[in-house]
Amino acid sequence: MLIVKKFGGSSVADKECIFRVAERCIEDYRKGNDIIVVLSAMGDTTDELIEKAKMITPEPSKREMDMLLTTGEQVSVSLMAMAINSMGVPAVSLNAFQVAMHCTSTYGNARFKRVDAERIRHELDYKKIVIVTGFQGINKYDDYATLGRGGSDTTAVAIAAALHADACEIYTDVDGVYTADPRIVPNARKLDAISYDEMLELASLGARVLHNRSVEMAKKYGVQLVVRSSLNREEGTVVKEVVKLEKMLISGVASDKNTSRVSVIGVDDKPGVAFKIFNTLAKKGINVDIILQSVGREGTKDISFTVAQDDLKHAMEILEENKEALTIKEITHQDTVAKISIVGAGMMSNPGVAAKMFEALFNAGVNINMIATSEVRITVLIDEKDVERAMIAVHDGFGLAD
Ligand code: ADP
Ligand code: ASP
Ligand code: MG
Repeated sequence: MLIVKKFGGSSVADKECIFRVAERCIEDYRKGNDIIVVLSAMGDTTDELIEKAKMITPEPSKREMDMLLTTGEQVSVSLMAMAINSMGVPAVSLNAFQVAMHCTSTYGNARFKRVDAERIRHELDYKKIVIVTGFQGINKYDDYATLGRGGSDTTAVAIAAALHADACEIYTDVDGVYTADPRIVPNARKLDAISYDEMLELASLGARVLHNRSVEMAKKYGVQLVVRSSLNREEGTVVKEVVKLEKMLISGVASDKNTSRVSVIGVDDKPGVAFKIFNTLAKKGINVDIILQSVGREGTKDISFTVAQDDLKHAMEILEENKEALTIKEITHQDTVAKISIVGAGMMSNPGVAAKMFEALFNAGVNINMIATSEVRITVLIDEKDVERAMIAVHDGFGLAD
């Protein structure tokens, strides 16, 4: 079998962790499998590198940022190769250039275009354990570009797809995918399996256990994922196409604090205004999520929407620059907001799901600022300070607890 194993930052945080991972990889290697290991940077290295850059300048260039951040993964893969070699097994570490993992040019948010299989195959033919840097690709300028925070999961899936691996295992610091972040909701339940679609929604709405692009790519190429702990031998959670419904209306609750609300006040109440506002933002690469428009009054209306907190400054600048053309009288914003979402394929055919969520929030005394729904999710915008309470209330409200 060809097995891709990805280990996150906490799984390779120190010497003990590195040797624990090395042992686990060698165990599968000795069973006769080909092993590719994808690693994140050790512990909080990526955060520390970001802090270092801020020490120099508040707004470093994105290219240089990626030069800096990719060093984290290079440290962990080389140390892992040394560890495995020291245990008497041949291993080699490779970075994105050496594999040739080609990606789009957007620094900090690149997407894979193509992964060359030759070099990895060659090393596997020599019976080596191949250890690859997560989170990085090379773009058309022959520069490093990173995939966005948590992107190593996507590296693992891209390699599994390119090499037609038999298994893709994502090892992390929890036992699998839970009905909610077990660090926020202690009685959250581990799921045995979850569909790509539901996992993609959860990941996109803040459940950082998997990078959302990794799920998107796994679905596209039919890579079955297993999420499990690097600390124990529990079964973990399988992410795959079809999952037998467990008579559950919803499969999980997610929260996202990386959210800000922007309101444009007093814009003209006539056709084309919303189009112009959101088109202006879209052209600059700003993703807008929940949108709420007030009923027009005296020829004007207000529109509120949410953007990722990292995009807030940019979005405000764009709106400010185009204030007149967009007929905006005033722009306000709030960054102490958060999103809580419930996700589940089961909610489509079940009326009253939204009411149940709102009831749970009401009982917990949590005020709802905005609401967005689709066939498989309901998202509400609330004050950031209420997140933990709201998560627990909604999770309990749907009877998801263990
Ligand atoms: P890694 O470094 O291994 O990639 P991450 O920190 O990126 O680990 O992801 C694992 C974390 O995701 C867990 O520690 C947990 O707090 C968080 N998490 C959020 N939502 C969920 C969920 N629904 N199920 C499991 N973990 C979740
Ligand atoms: N090291 C990167 C991060 O912290 C990538 C990853 O861990 O997946 O975001
Ligand atoms: Mg992660």
